[in-house]
Amino acid sequence: MKEITTKLLVIGAGPGGYVCAIRAGQLGIDTVIVDAGRPGGTCLTVGCIPSKALIHAADEYFMARRMADGGNRLGISVASPAIDLGKTMDWKDGIVGRLTSGVTGLLQKARVKIVHGRARFRDGKTVEVTTETGDQLIRAENIVIATGSEPVALPNLPFGGNVISSTEALALRRVPERLVVVGGGYIGLELGTAFAKLGSQVSVVEATPRVLPQYDAELVRPVLRRLKELGVRVLTETSAKGLDSDGQGLMVEAGGATETITADKILVTVGRKPRMEGWGYEELDLDRTGRFLRIDERCRTSMRGIYAIGDVTGEPMLAHRAMAQGEMVAEIVAGQKRSWDKRAIPAVCFTDPEIVGVGLSPDEARATGVEIKTGVFPFSANGRAMTTAWEDGFVRAVARSDNHVVLGLHAVGQGVSELAAGFSLAIEMGARLEDVAETTHAHPTRGEAIQEAALMALGHALHL
Ligand code: FAD
Ligand code: NAD
Repeated sequence: MKEITTKLLVIGAGPGGYVCAIRAGQLGIDTVIVDAGRPGGTCLTVGCIPSKALIHAADEYFMARRMADGGNRLGISVASPAIDLGKTMDWKDGIVGRLTSGVTGLLQKARVKIVHGRARFRDGKTVEVTTETGDQLIRAENIVIATGSEPVALPNLPFGGNVISSTEALALRRVPERLVVVGGGYIGLELGTAFAKLGSQVSVVEATPRVLPQYDAELVRPVLRRLKELGVRVLTETSAKGLDSDGQGLMVEAGGATETITADKILVTVGRKPRMEGWGYEELDLDRTGRFLRIDERCRTSMRGIYAIGDVTGEPMLAHRAMAQGEMVAEIVAGQKRSWDKRAIPAVCFTDPEIVGVGLSPDEARATGVEIKTGVFPFSANGRAMTTAWEDGFVRAVARSDNHVVLGLHAVGQGVSELAAGFSLAIEMGARLEDVAETTHAHPTRGEAIQEAALMALGHALHL
């Protein structure tokens, strides 16, 4: 068996693993990265990027359809728009291909050795990799587990046939006529909205009293309005019981009453779980926190020399958290003094309209025992929002009453995902309401609503 010895071995080349390996390579650390699939992991191949490509195509098609129906006030008319989902998927696959080869190029540039194969721990310092050309043994001083996550299946609705996960949904070649989405969280609402715009008749089945329970009700309200406009049926406090006898419908139950919803595809999006199988967890002595690997503020596991990053380590399961952890671990292995000191991790939900949140909501801030000031500025009073004909939504600022330090910035509205950078910077820099309010924001942009929300919290908004 071929043997390699290295300073750092990274298992998994998703956003966590590949960023860790690139940074380690930049720092001159002898690094090997192993992945059983394509570099980029879930995010680039079946997650963030493919879903955002589909959402964009759905938006464009929907807009064209609205124009064809005479449903716009801009004076544009379009004749008979149509979509060939197969071609859309080919375009999406092209983007994925460009990004995965881009990651390979970046790893090579950083002099990281890439091994294509499935890794399995033999012990805390040795990993066996099964590759197409035979097995390899890799001995490493430091090992990073970045094996990511996978979709959760429902016992009464296992994946297969018409019951699909996001991975299959992002590879469909035809728009399903009737789509039932089980789970009204991030993926369910992002993809459910996209398919509704592509022409599917969509129903969302959510177990809890409201969809997107991760965000407060105020932020979700415009999304619910839009789902209604799109004809999406949202059933809350409803549980999926399983397929009906001919496999063409989903049986659901709410408050003791049952119903069968006819469906061509049933998309199950009830969460993701850490990938804990197939890499030899059993051979090690790693502590867990619930389902996830337990890590400390330096991403160290309970075994010396073994780190873990990304989705396998817990919530929020987001690509940018995985990347930030990966970068930090590479610097720690290089001997730098680093620990997790982020004030907040931004969260964006690419629904229609989009939701973005950094830091604490008003209720979360109050729950910490501090007195707060809030400012909410609606896009209906923002010139740029008016010129794009999408005025629904607002920006909200939450700050401490005593020293005005900003604790949270949230928004819901068209294109607000791009406000995440400014929100994160303000909170990471410890900005006060006055810092945000006194920063000159370009006109006309939706960003002016951030300044106005801060002014609002200070009691003197200019444009409201
Ligand atoms: P992953 O990206 O899951 O990568 C893990 C890698 O490890 C994989 O490549 C896998 O092949 C490899 N691996 C596992 N076991 C082994 C083994 N034994 N040997 C070798 N290789 C192995 N996050 C966002 O921040 N924004 C979004 O918009 C967003 N959209 C999403 C949309 C969808 C549909 C999905 C499913 C997820 C989305 N996410 C989004 C979440 C994001 O994809 C994950 O948080 C991110 O990919 C986690 O990165 P990771 O490095 O921890 O793991
Ligand atoms: P999720 O946790 O966002 O949502 C799952 C939803 O399913 C919840 O609302 C939950 O109450 C509901 N649910 C659970 N069991 C159910 C059942 N038996 N019947 C009906 N509903 C049920 O999970 P997801 O949408 O699968 O996404 C997984 C993760 O991927 C997210 O938590 C997020 O970390 C990541 N992601 C992020 C983005 C983004 O950043 N824009 C996009 C997609 C995915």
